[in-house]
Amino acid sequence: MPAPSARPSSRSSRRAPELRFGDRWTFDPAPETADPKLKPRYDLFINGRFTAPKSGRYFETINPADERKLAEIALAGAADVDAAYAAARRAFPAWSRLPGAERGKYLFRIARLLQDRAREFAVAETLNGGKPIKESRDFDVPMTAAHFFYHAGWADKLEYVAPGARVAPLGVVGQVIPWNFPLLMLAWKLGPALAAGNTVVLKPAETTSITCLKFAEILQEAGLPPGVVNFVAGAGETGAAVVAHPSADKIAFTGSTEVGKAILRSLAGTEKKLTLELGGKAANLILDDAPLDQAVEGIVNGIFFNQGHVCCAGSRLLVQESVAEEVLARLRRRIATLRVGDPMDKNTDIGAINSRAQLKRITALVASGVREGATLHQPACVLPEKGFYFRPSVFSDVTMSHRIAREEIFGPVLSVLTFRTIDEAVEKANNTAYGLSAGVWTGKGSRILKLSAELKAGVVWANTYNKFDPASPFGGYKESGFGREGGRHGLLDYVRVG
Ligand code: NAP
Ligand code: MG
Repeated sequence: MPAPSARPSSRSSRRAPELRFGDRWTFDPAPETADPKLKPRYDLFINGRFTAPKSGRYFETINPADERKLAEIALAGAADVDAAYAAARRAFPAWSRLPGAERGKYLFRIARLLQDRAREFAVAETLNGGKPIKESRDFDVPMTAAHFFYHAGWADKLEYVAPGARVAPLGVVGQVIPWNFPLLMLAWKLGPALAAGNTVVLKPAETTSITCLKFAEILQEAGLPPGVVNFVAGAGETGAAVVAHPSADKIAFTGSTEVGKAILRSLAGTEKKLTLELGGKAANLILDDAPLDQAVEGIVNGIFFNQGHVCCAGSRLLVQESVAEEVLARLRRRIATLRVGDPMDKNTDIGAINSRAQLKRITALVASGVREGATLHQPACVLPEKGFYFRPSVFSDVTMSHRIAREEIFGPVLSVLTFRTIDEAVEKANNTAYGLSAGVWTGKGSRILKLSAELKAGVVWANTYNKFDPASPFGGYKESGFGREGGRHGLLDYVRVG
């Protein structure tokens, strides 16, 4: 994009006029039109079949972009969760004894079948979750397939997961996933579990069950033996039943730190293995020698990707004081060009907030930032009347004591802080209860090496942000949880070594 860098800084007295949405380019609508092939009603997926819930209850799932109902989803009660675990337990002996190469064939087939239906799944993911279609199409669906391909390759090479030791599957695994990357989180959970020979009971998030239950169609098409994977939809209560079930040998959870802590407490004293992937409040560090235009793109990708509903989002921007004013000015100009609105439009950069509850939470945290004295910058974009939307927001004049600098907002909201020395940057970056990810922008390799060693985060990106690869382990320190997903380390969390 043309960067009008000759303009005076936005904080000087000769303030440049604010750019408004659409000032530079107008775009014709570019709606994605593929058919998501939704059913009016989705049942639970237990023992290889779509099964009406014993609870007899269904709940509505909507499109957060316009609040319209998309489908009814079966609600799994305790008896349904029981049936799912019983199916997984029955399926375990045969599945775990299958030669790895045979399990791998199922995973390859699943990956290819998803690729065949990529557009359909991308549209369904966007409809139910609110994320821009260009992200579902170019990130969520291809990365989901990539995780199945990657783990398919591991299935017959498990002896290299822990060289020199014998590895065995754990048994039946209970998994609970969030709503921000419904398909991808499902892949992060199923890929390693199945490759290693475990069977699964998985609960998708209440607001985003559709692609999970559509995925069950792929499992059927792939001929996956009944009971190897079971999906039980529902809200927190169903999640709690999955976690508490006595038949689970391991629990894998991704979601909020609050629920993660409750799960940790509830499993204390049991034999169940546990991995937790929880929240984050990542620092994205811009040093004085960073390429600033690239860094601004990285900041935007770091916080506005998926509306900021990203556990590893670069939500705390730490900028070296000498370049802070310039970075903020460029950032403000850049966010004025972001297109907010219909997620199904191929030009949309920021789609819908996932739910009314999440919008409320974001709104309350942003209000706290204003109340506590930070300065809020928002472009004057026009938001759709129906649906849940939030303007891309940048806070300057933030201090470490502000709630917006400490708490995970999980929305398109960036808090900008400054530092003078690199040591101060490290201290501020690490001064958080979380430790999931961080970013560093600098022209010097030596600074990258120093900072990536000193930042207490599971992933540190250098001169890039939000880059993922199935071979690269992902996970946190401190209140961001424990255990890794992806790579050899991710598989280690799904096997018994000995
Ligand atoms: P959450 O409540 O932790 O939800 C995560 C998953 O856990 C969902 O499937 C949820 O069901 C389920 N769940 C809820 N209570 C449970 C319980 N007691 N036992 C077992 N499972 C339970 O997160 P949220 O309410 O959706 O979001 C709240 C905040 O969590 C966000 O604002 C964000 O800060 C953080 N978050 C982090 C991540 C991440 O990737 N690390 C993802 C999502 C959210 P329901 O769908 O019914 O809630
Ligand atoms: Mg919840």
